[in-house]
Amino acid sequence: MADERRKAFLAQEIHRPTICQACGGVLVFKGVGEFVCEDCGAKEYDDYGKVRNYLERHRGANVAEISDMTGVSHKAIRDLIKEKRFDVIDNKGGYLRCEMCGENITTGRLCPKCEENYHRQVEKAARADRKRNLSGYGESAHLEQGSKRFTRER
Ligand SMILES: [Zn+2]
Ligand SMILES: [Zn+2]
Repeated sequence: MADERRKAFLAQEIHRPTICQACGGVLVFKGVGEFVCEDCGAKEYDDYGKVRNYLERHRGANVAEISDMTGVSHKAIRDLIKEKRFDVIDNKGGYLRCEMCGENITTGRLCPKCEENYHRQVEKAARADRKRNLSGYGESAHLEQGSKRFTRER
């Protein structure tokens, strides 16, 4: 059961950066969509981090504007909003549970503990991957988003 949840979550995970673009080091999850390279300290953001950062500075920005400024696709932004991953969008009366352990949470899809575990696993895999093919740029290090998700009006 927990495994099924995990798989579903992994399939939907959005563009988590795994490898540092500056030096090829492994990016370590720091929270709220932010990642830091363990080798050179460069910062990277996933789609959520990019959109969140932008929304913090530009409250009420629309999807087209956010997409233009962050490079995150319209669809990905709508999915993020739909999933209520932003505290700026209130979840009053909403009742969220961690997708892995079922713990009550106030925002996002995982409780902090499961989110942390998830990222540690991706990092471990990325390190192993990096060792395996130090010469090439590991394609396997990228977790591609399951392409076809249902489209629904927002
Ligand atoms: Zn780096
Ligand atoms: Zn959990």
